[in-house]
Amino acid sequence: MQTIGLLGGMSWESTELYYRWINELVKEKLGGLHSAKIVLVSVDFQEIEMLQHEGRWEEAGAALAQAAQQIEAARADFLLICTNTMHKVAPQIEAAIHIPILHLADATAVRIQQKGLKKVGLLGTNFTMEQDFYRGRLEQHGLEVIVPNAADRAIVHGVIYNELCLGQVEDASRQEFLRIIDDLHAQGAEGIIEGCTEIVMLVQQQHTAVPLFDTTAIHAEAAVNRALGIF
Ligand code: GLU
Repeated sequence: MQTIGLLGGMSWESTELYYRWINELVKEKLGGLHSAKIVLVSVDFQEIEMLQHEGRWEEAGAALAQAAQQIEAARADFLLICTNTMHKVAPQIEAAIHIPILHLADATAVRIQQKGLKKVGLLGTNFTMEQDFYRGRLEQHGLEVIVPNAADRAIVHGVIYNELCLGQVEDASRQEFLRIIDDLHAQGAEGIIEGCTEIVMLVQQQHTAVPLFDTTAIHAEAAVNRALGIF
């Protein structure tokens, strides 16, 4: 079994899900007392969030590159950046280490294609919904990606940082997300990417008939398959 490197803490609320789900999947696949081999480095999200919102991406990338080097030094075989948003600085992190990054957008695109969908809605932080580093990567896989209008993007972004990353799950916010999901579905989205690792805390498949692609679960499963050599 290979050792999975997790660059987490963004937020720790979702990193906890990665840790749990990776271990549950290894147990499910191997049985007995098997558990995952994991190296986790968890950053202080307040520091990273400040750099994001001040547009200081180079510094944020440097901080994450340093954390990734710690993970490599602890002998992880490959690395997961446990947040969609910070894949914005994936090239900077990649340049600082020798182990491969299991890119979240690639894993998500593969899963969507396995389900035979072409047009998807994307929910995430404004950085993820509006910039090219994530959408562009999905589009390279041949997917058509649509996002909510500006007002709804602001709602989604606000709920992520002001509630979910603080561990707050509010029913009123769930209703807003479901309305936005329905809206994207009405615009032709065949499925919705929960492109932020905390959204699964708020909206799960049981809440809607529209197919959901939870990036936390997809990333965790892709990591386990890689660690166990299942392709
Ligand atoms: N975890 C979130 C994501 O997947 C947002 C937190 C962050 O800005 O990294 O994008």
